[in-house]
Amino acid sequence: MKSITRDGSKWVPEYLAAIDEKICIGCGRCFKVCSRGVMHLHGVDDAGEILGICDGEDDDFDGELNRMVMVVDHAGRCIGCGACGRVCPKNCQTHVAADQIAA
Ligand code: SF4
Ligand code: SF4
Repeated sequence: MKSITRDGSKWVPEYLAAIDEKICIGCGRCFKVCSRGVMHLHGVDDAGEILGICDGEDDDFDGELNRMVMVVDHAGRCIGCGACGRVCPKNCQTHVAADQIAA
């Protein structure tokens, strides 16, 4: 597959593959710049277990919530624009270039 920009220049998408939940601070910046719904904030308990997606402002998972992290839950939607990586203050994302992924 050959990817190009509008002017015909070569473009290699860099897909978001993973977020290190131990480093992520759940700031939400990546979510705000992503137009594709690739990742969502999830709650984490004291033991580090993922409790589920945070879909309400006062969702504390019955008191179990310790912190929030961003989870890549729809990786297949990513178009590899790289915007999420540019705004992340913790450099906790892993991106994979399209030409490094086996067809
Ligand atoms: S690379 Fe672009 S499309 Fe993919 S998750 Fe990041 S912001 Fe969304
Ligand atoms: S921008 Fe980085 S630190 Fe902030 S929620 Fe996204 S992955 Fe986590």
